[in-house]
Amino acid sequence: MGNTFTAAGSGAGDLSMTNGGTDAFYDVLTLAACAIAGTPWELNLAVDLADGQRHSRGFAGHDLSEWPWTGGWRREKAFLLRVIDLAEARHGWDRLDYEPARAPSHLRDLRAMVEGLTPLPMERPPHRRDWTSPPPPEHLERCPEHDVFEGQFGCRLCSDW
Ligand SMILES: [Zn+2]
Repeated sequence: MGNTFTAAGSGAGDLSMTNGGTDAFYDVLTLAACAIAGTPWELNLAVDLADGQRHSRGFAGHDLSEWPWTGGWRREKAFLLRVIDLAEARHGWDRLDYEPARAPSHLRDLRAMVEGLTPLPMERPPHRRDWTSPPPPEHLERCPEHDVFEGQFGCRLCSDW
């Protein structure tokens, strides 16, 4: 079992990962996103990453073009690239209790996909939260040990899912 990420129209190939590789991928992206998220959209993305994969939420197995991009997608895409930069610089990896061996190659692939993507602002599907408003404050509480957002389910680095 694994997960495949795609980016329609980006010209980049797909990114396929094992479930363990996907967990690590979300861990390193969460560490980076929680460090620099500021706007409501950025905070929603960070919480989505913090909640990702282990509960089959977030963008696991989705196409990046299906993210809730808005009319501010240039800013949103630039933020995502900054998150990838920071993850590639191994930000917070000292807070992991394992070595995410495959993350560097997965991050490289993700960067190629994001760089090639021209997102179309989404009509918000009714089941999705509006990313132009900040997430509920309780989802933005930070784990005292790992300094990442707790999200809906508690710190992903503390939990033993
Ligand atoms: Zn924690």
